Amino acid sequence: MFEKVLIANRGEIALRIHRACREMGIRTVAVHSTADNDAMHVRLADEAVCIGPPSGKDSYLNKAAILSAATITGADAIHPGYGFLSENADFAAMVEEHGFTFIGPSPDHIRMMGDKITAKQAVKSAGIPCVPGSEGALDTDQDALECAESIGYPVLIKATAGGGGKGMKVARNADELREAFRLARNEAKAAFGNPDVYMEKYLGKPRHIEMQVLADNYGNVVHLGERDCSLQRRHQKVLEEAPSPALSPEQRIAIGETTRTAIAKLGYRNAGTIEYLYEDGKFYFIEMNTRLQVEHPVTEAVTGIDLVREQIRIAAGETLGYEQQDVVFQGHAIECRVNAEDAVTFTPSPGRVVGYHAPGGLGVRVDSALYAGYRIPPHYDSMIAKLIVSGKNRNEALMRLRRALGEYVIDGVKTTLPLHVRLVGDAEFCDGNYDIHWLEKWVASHN
Ligand code: ADP
Repeated sequence: MFEKVLIANRGEIALRIHRACREMGIRTVAVHSTADNDAMHVRLADEAVCIGPPSGKDSYLNKAAILSAATITGADAIHPGYGFLSENADFAAMVEEHGFTFIGPSPDHIRMMGDKITAKQAVKSAGIPCVPGSEGALDTDQDALECAESIGYPVLIKATAGGGGKGMKVARNADELREAFRLARNEAKAAFGNPDVYMEKYLGKPRHIEMQVLADNYGNVVHLGERDCSLQRRHQKVLEEAPSPALSPEQRIAIGETTRTAIAKLGYRNAGTIEYLYEDGKFYFIEMNTRLQVEHPVTEAVTGIDLVREQIRIAAGETLGYEQQDVVFQGHAIECRVNAEDAVTFTPSPGRVVGYHAPGGLGVRVDSALYAGYRIPPHYDSMIAKLIVSGKNRNEALMRLRRALGEYVIDGVKTTLPLHVRLVGDAEFCDGNYDIHWLEKWVASHN
């Protein structure tokens, strides 16, 4: 097992990784920007190294500075968390070339899944169902028009290097398509430096359902069930739950087996998530995330499996040690993402947290790096906390979520807690009847 792990991230996820390491008897190295001198992960880690000024590109994305920090502290392995360098194949390769272990998949798998066209081709050949669409990148708007004719409108233009919903455009007819093709290419070029786009059938009312997998270095693979992440605003997840209120146990087993078999065929290792859209009883692959996800705690809550611990064990060369039939799903879990933003306008609200009180009690977990007196820097993502509740069933989880939200106090900055309070009081949400467009419409009609 590793003796020392460097955590190449910040905020709640840096703390989350530190906690797993501490419980495994592994020493931790925090790296941080000058804006994070007082951050909780820096305070709790065994050692801390300042790697640069506030801007992400000069600090948490600074590969050379992170590798130097690993060298001077004598770390064995690097955990990238999510965001920043977590899905950067070049970084994963550099980590290994410098003699450290990258806690994640191989650089080749990261690269393959980072390009949505190669990802789709790979998973399709491994037996995963995909959204009907173009075979590869579309070179001209003529190609796009022909493809749209063959799959039928409406269609969605997506960036092959995409992320965060950028470079995605819907087209309902040929005129819209010409415009969408041009706009999507420009947006993709500006955001990712790669203008390549492809086409998918646009699904009208799908749910976003993703499967968590774990694979060791010896071909053993398990799936840990699904998470329903349909509640999104601007393609960003707001609230996630497991299991999905829309799936039957039989459907769960079927899609779980399809996913597990494909992951084994691809020779993938470590934790990963296959994201699907689900409509009219059918699953369609949209992308694979080759990292730990923000919403992983809902899976931990229903399986009792510590995903970060498993990532570290697998990276250290241990075998999974259990099989699919040993994974037991119990109860229901819901996660609310709390952002430092105005709950109505969603304008970021960084600043000093004057008062802080986190909820507790049975079935309540808060993953956050906040404390009273902490100053939320304006340079990074606005997510400041995750509130995760679990219960015997969905109703118990909902009652508990209402109770926990009522106890949560974050004073001094605006947060999206009031949005969650309103959401858990909504009858339609409580019935579990929502698709990926539901929240956007709900927000518009409640403001
Ligand atoms: P990104 O990597 O930019 O987040 P994804 O492929 O993961 O892109 O898609 C993000 C979101 O966009 C999905 O969760 C879903 O809400 C929507 N979406 C993606 N593909 C389709 C599609 N074919 N039809 C309808 N909505 C889609």
